[in-house]
Amino acid sequence: MREFEGLVESFEGNRVVLDQTAFNPRGGGLVSDTGRLNGMTVVEATKEGDNVFHLLEAPADLRVGDRVHGVLDWERRHRIMRMHTTAHILSSVVNGETGALITGNQIGPVESRVDFNLEHFDKDRMSVYIEKVNDAVKRGLEVRAYFMKREEAMAVPGLVKLANAAPPTVDLLRIVQIGDVDTQADGGVHVKNTGEIGTVIGLRTENKGKNNRRVYFTVK
Ligand SMILES: [Zn+2]
Repeated sequence: MREFEGLVESFEGNRVVLDQTAFNPRGGGLVSDTGRLNGMTVVEATKEGDNVFHLLEAPADLRVGDRVHGVLDWERRHRIMRMHTTAHILSSVVNGETGALITGNQIGPVESRVDFNLEHFDKDRMSVYIEKVNDAVKRGLEVRAYFMKREEAMAVPGLVKLANAAPPTVDLLRIVQIGDVDTQADGGVHVKNTGEIGTVIGLRTENKGKNNRRVYFTVK
């Protein structure tokens, strides 16, 4: 969703909360969307409790109940979706090849990174992994999102990798499935089809401590 209508629920200075929003707030390793509300620039969206705060560039002239038209910076958002979907495919490939698990990620529109708990990382293997990622991307895999009861999801091995991230009070988990490559509980934004990703480029790897290997990539 690139554009939407919402009603102002509250605002304070340049922080606005709406009754609904298409802005994906910063979190889970993803940077925030940016865009506009009634033509005013939204520099960041953050989540506190159940509320998404839209941070405007300047104080807003708004009233509670005002209708606003929201527009996402779609080029940025689509790059974030391409990068995030790529991170899942890369994680699946590296996990399949080495057994390494992800210890962190940072997804942004320009470059992104995934951290793996690997003691040794053969840099020459990097190009092989990226090639496998591009093979999956080019297969044009459908990306599906659906909801599953928490206890059912917990019973599927490997599905809930961040079980502690979702509070136990949440009894429906969102599952994201990328063709036959990756299925897991995930709250982030993804493309509809891996064909949208284009070409994945491995940028560099870094050693971040004994068991931590950081892999940077981008999409073109
Ligand atoms: Zn994710």
